[in-house]
Amino acid sequence: MAAALVGVRGRCALCNISFELKPWQLNAIAINEPFDCPYCHKGVEPSCPKQLKQFKSLDNLGLLRPSMIVLTCAALLVALVAEWIGLISVVGQLNVSLMAVLIYFMTLRYARHRQRMTLTLREVKPLPVEQLAGITGARFGQR
Ligand SMILES: [Zn+2]
Repeated sequence: MAAALVGVRGRCALCNISFELKPWQLNAIAINEPFDCPYCHKGVEPSCPKQLKQFKSLDNLGLLRPSMIVLTCAALLVALVAEWIGLISVVGQLNVSLMAVLIYFMTLRYARHRQRMTLTLREVKPLPVEQLAGITGARFGQR
């Protein structure tokens, strides 16, 4: 997973610095754990659920490359056999092969483009202490 996720960046909302996320930071995000911002050293977590969803869908992109290689090889083989048994001409076979390779490179380019994303990180509020104190205070006040 870590190898597939090169190029994911995070932008800390506190110090406004964007940085490349390290594998352990990516893992922390994947398991919904806050981690320390390397610049302001405050606990941060992704602030946007939509970005988080997109981040988690990147997992599937890691599988894309091997499956695309298999698909492209299959297409090349089918074209070769079709030409060999006389279904299509040599030019036809070349065209099919070129198309298959082209689709392969376009898909990988698209995957790499989608992978380049920046997660907005917000500060983690450890405990809403003020809120808790307020509720407790109100309850004591009622008695
Ligand atoms: Zn920061």
